[in-house]
Amino acid sequence: MKKTMLASAVLAVGAISFAAELRPASQARLPIGAVRPEGWLRVQLEKQRDGITGHAEELYDDIGKSDWLTNAGRGGQYSWERGPYYAKGLLSLAFALNDATLKEKAKKWVDAILASQQPDGSFGPKKRNWWANMIALWLVRDWAEATGDSRVVPFLEKYFTFQKAEFADCPISGDSMWAVARTGDEMDVVFWLYEQTGKEEWLDFARTLSKESADWTTYYRRGGDPGGSKSNGYRCHIVNFMQGLKTPALQWRLDGDPAKRTAYRAAFDPEGWVMRMCGRPDRMVNGSEPLIDRSATGGTELCAIAERILSCQTHLTVFADADVADDLEVVAYNSLPATLAPDGKGIRYYCLLNQPACLDQLLLFANNGDRTENVGAICPGPHAGFGCCRSNFHLAWPKFVQSMWMARDGGLAAVAYGPCNVSTPTADVVQGGDYPFGPNVRLKVAKAKGGEWPLFVRIPGWCKSAKVSVNGIDAGTSVAGTFKRIDREWKAGDEVTLVLPMETRLSRWEMNAVAVSRGPLLFSFEVPMEERTVKRYKVPYEKVWIDNFGGDFPRKELLPKGPWNYVLALGKGGTAEKNGMTEKGGATEKYGTKLSASGEKIDAVVSKVAIPADPFVPGNAPVTVSVPAVKSDFGGWGYMREITTGRAVDPPPSPIPDEDGVVEMVKLVPFGSTQLRITLFPWFSNPR
Ligand SMILES: [Zn+2]
Repeated sequence: MKKTMLASAVLAVGAISFAAELRPASQARLPIGAVRPEGWLRVQLEKQRDGITGHAEELYDDIGKSDWLTNAGRGGQYSWERGPYYAKGLLSLAFALNDATLKEKAKKWVDAILASQQPDGSFGPKKRNWWANMIALWLVRDWAEATGDSRVVPFLEKYFTFQKAEFADCPISGDSMWAVARTGDEMDVVFWLYEQTGKEEWLDFARTLSKESADWTTYYRRGGDPGGSKSNGYRCHIVNFMQGLKTPALQWRLDGDPAKRTAYRAAFDPEGWVMRMCGRPDRMVNGSEPLIDRSATGGTELCAIAERILSCQTHLTVFADADVADDLEVVAYNSLPATLAPDGKGIRYYCLLNQPACLDQLLLFANNGDRTENVGAICPGPHAGFGCCRSNFHLAWPKFVQSMWMARDGGLAAVAYGPCNVSTPTADVVQGGDYPFGPNVRLKVAKAKGGEWPLFVRIPGWCKSAKVSVNGIDAGTSVAGTFKRIDREWKAGDEVTLVLPMETRLSRWEMNAVAVSRGPLLFSFEVPMEERTVKRYKVPYEKVWIDNFGGDFPRKELLPKGPWNYVLALGKGGTAEKNGMTEKGGATEKYGTKLSASGEKIDAVVSKVAIPADPFVPGNAPVTVSVPAVKSDFGGWGYMREITTGRAVDPPPSPIPDEDGVVEMVKLVPFGSTQLRITLFPWFSNPR
């Protein structure tokens, strides 16, 4: 049964051509389960299986006793987004790991959702639950792609027929502005139904949804909306912002509007209003919960990280933009592991760039700062902030894994790199190498269909000197920021190798503070820490107390055990010096290099060791970058704020005056390998 669906997913790209009205997508998503993680990447998903995802139904009443399963009419959160959020991630995790127990658990949700459909076509615990239903639609569609379950297409047709009729009284905006912001999620499923059935009415319905959707194209470009809705508030909500990113790409398939083609890039243009106001070096945006300034101790929400990954996936199917795949990797390999607890038993609501302590105290964030419920929002544990993140984060790693490969032009595209294997009717390919910690990617064909077909490999935008070879023979020129197409009669045993040399680079942020990155990874100072389990805490936004350390899933406080007030010593430059690092791989090799940022230079030493079973556990970093720095308390740097004790003082304006402290080489590790960290550093021009 699964093979049939794999074939149909690949054929879907061709099937689109029967209706000229829907512009063809560049690539097709593979069904969940077609890409399986290996090695350290698999460990990230196994931690979820053994941790929160595998135990969510026991840990959280609003999931385990959800109205979606019990139909008990509890209402509130029991009948809204939390159950479907979790089930959508659970389903992807179950197929990515090919885990029978998790699949059985996921099937229970699918069966309950399908069985809940009423004769009028409505389904779920509430009749007009437009937003929460969008999540359920997505998960039954994923299920159908993976299993070929024939119940799903008639279920969707019946529901959309019902919804069309209801729109006269209750359009999308009649549900909530959340539903308006997230209409793209439903459009994605309606397109799928159209591709399955070829019925024009579903294309018409997609057009209706497109009109009902928030105007994200204008928002990403200029924030405001002349002549549009007066209530912009819902669009500056960080999760809506990330979730909306898929919408312009889907709308472009209907209208071909060039502004929609470039809406994603407008949102993340370094010179655009969003990145200049709220941007971060992990390509995320600060938002708590509305978009906020670029403070090093502003947060971005875990839901926003998960939804960004999913939006990148949709955008990549439509346009195959290599730069969006670069972003997908940056978010998955930095922001995501930095926000999760390394043992799989905790999440954080907010991810901070500079997070030298995680205290069970008030944090005073922009929106929910003065609420006692905000306590613990950056402490790893099963309850952090509002209940959305603990319900929604489950999809992030599995959807990243699904996106690593896509079907394209009768062949395959390697979209993101990391250890995995992909199995499709076209070919089975095993992906290995030390990427993203090192420059090497290996794609080994294990099985291939006959005849010539293309393999597309992504050349990251940051990599100016990529080398691609097939069976040891140079495959010719590669252009940074594109997919390189290799046509060939692929055979089992063929091997494509990519060497993607990484340069250590500086970028500048608020108060002229700098961040250090190398290839797709951001680097941070890992603050030495000690853990303390919280004995008693109140579940945020709920009248429930957790006593006696929370059993196997405690909330933890992380306390700094040493100073973190480093100021980078940038050399007195003059002209910018070209970064000249050479990657050779292997154990503990060291290379000297010069870093430059508008004239200032910094010496860096890169060290590598073999990748451990889990590189995202503190102390396990397989690659480090050492940079010269001094300790300084200039501008209060290195202290926690007096009133908002849960957060640190921001970097003072740089360059700070000459410091005469002892210059030492400070080791930085991948952002995703840290639990306490400093990522944005002040600096001074070192005259020595
Ligand atoms: Zn959330």
